[in-house]
Amino acid sequence: ALQAEAKLRDVLAHFQLEGSVASIIPYGSGHIHDTYAVANDQPTCPNYLLQRINHHVFRNVPLLMENIGLVTLHLRQKLQHIPGARPDEEVLTLVPTQDNLGYYRDPDGNFWRVYLLLEGTRSYDIVETPQQAYEGGKAFGKFLALLADLDASQLHESIPDFHNIENRLRLLTQATRLNAAGRVAQVDKELRFVWQRGEEMSSICRLGRAGKLPLRTTHNDTKFNNVLLDRHDKALCVIDLDTVMPGFLAYDYGDAIRTTVNKAAEDEEDLSKIKVDYELFRAFTEGFLQETSAFLTEEEVNSLEPGVRLLPYIMGVRFLTDYIEGDHYYKIHFPEHNLQRARAQFRLVEVLEENSELLLHTIQQTAHAFKTAAAAQQQ
Ligand code: ADP
Ligand code: MG
Ligand code: MG
Repeated sequence: ALQAEAKLRDVLAHFQLEGSVASIIPYGSGHIHDTYAVANDQPTCPNYLLQRINHHVFRNVPLLMENIGLVTLHLRQKLQHIPGARPDEEVLTLVPTQDNLGYYRDPDGNFWRVYLLLEGTRSYDIVETPQQAYEGGKAFGKFLALLADLDASQLHESIPDFHNIENRLRLLTQATRLNAAGRVAQVDKELRFVWQRGEEMSSICRLGRAGKLPLRTTHNDTKFNNVLLDRHDKALCVIDLDTVMPGFLAYDYGDAIRTTVNKAAEDEEDLSKIKVDYELFRAFTEGFLQETSAFLTEEEVNSLEPGVRLLPYIMGVRFLTDYIEGDHYYKIHFPEHNLQRARAQFRLVEVLEENSELLLHTIQQTAHAFKTAAAAQQQ
């Protein structure tokens, strides 16, 4: 539940803010944390963004904040050496507490943090134009490119096995055996959908284990609304860094595509509305590969299309598991909500499968074009 203003003012007093607080209002459409915009009374002082971190989802907040500190420092240092870059706007800036920590823990056990508010920015829950998709692709691509030389083993695994489908399938098996809510008989069709694809969807896991895909510093929550675009719809800053940890690049590309190409809601009831918008796909891919193709390995390029099918599949498996267990993890708004979410994600997997050759071809052509152009420039 959202907190009363007096309590929020108490929390803010623990941070090194400039000026004085004029107002605190709920902000954004994130599902995980409670987010507030803090307006400054002093026109020359910055506005802030206050967040209560969801410590049920993130069990070890100090480690997660260490990851964010490391990653934002690295990004800032890299940007300082790029002519024309604006490190203060292109990277999140944490405001320290009076004790010089990145977060404050209140007497009730809640964790809080403050960022500089990035003014005049927007995040899109639904992508409207190819221009936005292209800029989002560039933002996530550049983020990964700047982090390509940050040794991923320095980062903590803030949520272990987050995108590990083999583990997610084990959890689904357990839930099905237990059948705690008595719903298994009802989801026969969905379970068959999952198991028909289990082997194939584990290919990225297997390649990773065999050392054929590099473990990189990745974002792991690249929903399109986790990039801020500026007033002119130009890419500005990648946000929501809680899940930054070692991962495979295909996860970041796949989750971004999942939330870019489907203009229907994540839990759309009318499955006929779930489609792949190819123009948005092409535009995002172009922006993404423009920034990343110089360092991607061939195996990584080949993992991108499977990644596109994997991410909605993982989400569907997670929603289905929660439905079978009796809806403990995701907030639901009506009794069958998790089942409806799972069905929408599985339908998205199907339409991506129907288009897989076109998507693969587009990815390979685009990567090839950028690599050739870069090679020509070197000569
Ligand atoms: P959640 O994990 O709940 O999605 P986010 O960190 O993504 O939390 O923040 C929620 C929303 O707040 C974002 O979608 C974005 O609109 C806005 N937001 C987050 N950080 C900033 C910032 N530094 N400046 C401006 N807006 C921000
Ligand atoms: Mg977010
Ligand atoms: Mg988040």
